[in-house]
Amino acid sequence: MTAPRLVWFRRDLRDTDHAALAAALVGGGPVYCAFIFDTVILDALPGRSDRRIAFIHGSLQELDAALRARGGGLIVRHGNPVAEIPRLADALGVAIVDAGRDYEPYAKQRDAAVAEALVRSGRTLVLHREHVIFDGDEVLSKAGRPYTVFTPYRNAWLRRLDETGVPSFDSGTASLTPPPVASGVPALAEIGFGESARFDLAAGCVVPGMHGAAERLDDFRERMLRYAEQRDYPAVKGVSYLSVHLRFGTVSIRQLVREALIIGGAGGMTWLSELVWRDFYFMILDRFPHAVTASFRPEYDAIVWEEWPQGLRAWQEGRTGYPLVDAAMRQLASSGYMHNRLRMVAASFLCKDLGIDWRHGERWFAEQLLDFDLAANNGGWQWAASSGCDAQPWFRIFNPVTQSERFDPQGRFIRRYVPELAAVPEKWIHAPWRMPAAEQARCAAVIGRDYPFPIVDHDSARQATLARYAVVKKAG
Ligand SMILES: Cc1cc2nc3c(=O)[nH]c(=O)nc-3n(C[C@H](O)[C@H](O)[C@H](O)COP(=O)(O)OP(=O)(O)OC[C@H]3O[C@@H](n4cnc5c(N)ncnc54)[C@H](O)[C@@H]3O)c2cc1C
Repeated sequence: MTAPRLVWFRRDLRDTDHAALAAALVGGGPVYCAFIFDTVILDALPGRSDRRIAFIHGSLQELDAALRARGGGLIVRHGNPVAEIPRLADALGVAIVDAGRDYEPYAKQRDAAVAEALVRSGRTLVLHREHVIFDGDEVLSKAGRPYTVFTPYRNAWLRRLDETGVPSFDSGTASLTPPPVASGVPALAEIGFGESARFDLAAGCVVPGMHGAAERLDDFRERMLRYAEQRDYPAVKGVSYLSVHLRFGTVSIRQLVREALIIGGAGGMTWLSELVWRDFYFMILDRFPHAVTASFRPEYDAIVWEEWPQGLRAWQEGRTGYPLVDAAMRQLASSGYMHNRLRMVAASFLCKDLGIDWRHGERWFAEQLLDFDLAANNGGWQWAASSGCDAQPWFRIFNPVTQSERFDPQGRFIRRYVPELAAVPEKWIHAPWRMPAAEQARCAAVIGRDYPFPIVDHDSARQATLARYAVVKKAG
């Protein structure tokens, strides 16, 4: 009889188009499925109520139900995977553990340790390309090196896609084996987390699981046609809002690439480009792990940042006096999501208006974002700080007022998240401190009383930033 296999689910919480599950089923023997609540990750979280854990938990319940419908079920453990996976493999008598390849430094080191422990008992960990379209050496420059500039990477990625097509790993309704050990998803309290985050998700209309992903994709499919024109306007429903589902794999990247190719045109192709950015940053993280803690371009580590805790706190709490930045930061705090245009504006404001080290902002986003992904977050922050690969040039500094005029022209987004400015006329909404005193009183938005004065003067901050970044110019 063929030896049993164990599929170890991590950030791929679905049972369709799943490379590891399909490979295990092809083996023909019994297939078991497991998920470990990794205490190394959980213990490092700042709080015991976390929207992401609630999202994972809801997604696991749905996955467990889907696996049970195939005759199996999800074995869930809470502990360090380096001990838990070999222990389970032993209890189940499996020869092979299948999982999706992860590119984060911690995950790589964890997987190496699990593989080593399994080898000691004659077992193998097989990692499948699951979270990206291409990895490893699949997209290299003509010189055989990893790309560090996006456009040539995307062109090579598209050429490669033409050659290979998008594989599908559908295992249909193939049957699984009932686990001979305890299975099912424990309550959040059993892993030390509160229930309240579940209500936060519901309040933000975030539905976990494959079902939630399918709903968002259904809602986006027709809008994808207009993505190229609408994606930069946070008040408009122009983007897909699928990032949390991509983060936890409740939808497959392969399915989304196929959808973009089917829609095609400017909308489909622009959206496909964003999915390529995602692959690009995973590749950068995999190949250049020094960027996790240091600047991708080492000369940027010579920059001397401001130590300004009150400035950081005002930014985190959406009290900078720049309405678009404040609306963005409040959207993040209340929903765990921030629109891409606003991530760029808010990140630029922290580094180039407040002069605060991008790593402080990166950490705050990592705590707050429901879709937090080390690769994209680090890539996005280093782009804004100009220290990354293919980043915004250091002398290009977003003006938070003109960004606001351009991308939220009527101030609709601002009014939604900064209610104290709700009655401010369109003319003043982007820079309310310029509003005459009588007008401020009339619309109950007195600057300094109802809403803060700008924390910095943008023009002076811009000059200070150009001086701060001069060390980079000298190094170049
Ligand atoms: C400072 C900063 C931090 C960021 N942090 C994250 C993060 O932690 N997690 C995250 O998923 N994205 C991050 N992004 C990228 C981007 O802002 C989000 O992916 C996007 O806003 C998610 O919304 P959406 O799903 O509606 O996007 P859509 O516009 O519908 O795009 C579809 C998908 O493409 C991918 N994508 C889009 N833009 C990018 C990008 N610039 N880099 C990498 N992938 C991209 C995402 O997976 C996204 O879900 C960050 C960007 C910046 C500037």
